[in-house]
Amino acid sequence: MSRPKNAMEIFKHLEKSNCRECGEKSCLAFAGAVFTGAKPIDACPRVDDATRALFKGGAGETGDNGDIYLSALQQEMKECDLAEASRRIGGTVSEETLILKVLGKDFGVDREGKFHTTLHVTPYLGVPFLNHVLHGKGVPAKGEWVSYRDIPGGREQYNLFHRRCEENLKRLADGHTGLFDDLVHLFNAREVPPQFQSDISVVLHFFPTVPFMICYCNDQDGLGSSLNVFYDRTAIENVDAESLFYLGVGFTYMLERLALRHGS
Ligand code: SF4
Repeated sequence: MSRPKNAMEIFKHLEKSNCRECGEKSCLAFAGAVFTGAKPIDACPRVDDATRALFKGGAGETGDNGDIYLSALQQEMKECDLAEASRRIGGTVSEETLILKVLGKDFGVDREGKFHTTLHVTPYLGVPFLNHVLHGKGVPAKGEWVSYRDIPGGREQYNLFHRRCEENLKRLADGHTGLFDDLVHLFNAREVPPQFQSDISVVLHFFPTVPFMICYCNDQDGLGSSLNVFYDRTAIENVDAESLFYLGVGFTYMLERLALRHGS
């Protein structure tokens, strides 16, 4: 990885088309986001391999490490007893494929580690999913919500999680009033009575035993809006802290791309 001295060093390697697929309004804004650590270089689908290699691997990035880790977990799947795993984590087995509900959609994996899903699989989703299948204990959620900061192993990465997940989700919610309705329709989210003094709270499930809650407060008295993400206290029994980081950040990228596609 190269540590750029400023955003312009990153910018000169970008396509400069301002296509916005990265969720930023321009390539320059994206360069700034990579420089501050708010976005990984991978969030631009148009960078070439040389540029990825140059700027990958910052704190909390999956980068090539994510791809290598994903391949290693896919190898591990060869030894996986699919029936045992499905009983443990609440899935089903059909045609030699273990199927779990991920964000309300069927998401399958076979013993070759091949995915069967309509969701776009990146290391941000593939690594946590396989970790959960292989090592998750299937501990049921207790309904005790905690910040990522209070998950064992989450404190060190929390600032980055806040910038890449919570702040970017807040920005989306600020600019797109229908965001929470979309979450309900697209990802089977459930609106629950507002928690933690928020105006709206919705619960979604990365996996059947790994729910997460998004709480959004409208701007009041000019103090600005706020958004927080909470995991169930049992989440760490079902997937590791790094995977919880990837899930939150990967979900945010997915929503940013959807919002751009629909012109908000
Ligand atoms: S995805 Fe972002 S950084 Fe990449 S070319 Fe498009 S606007 Fe530029």
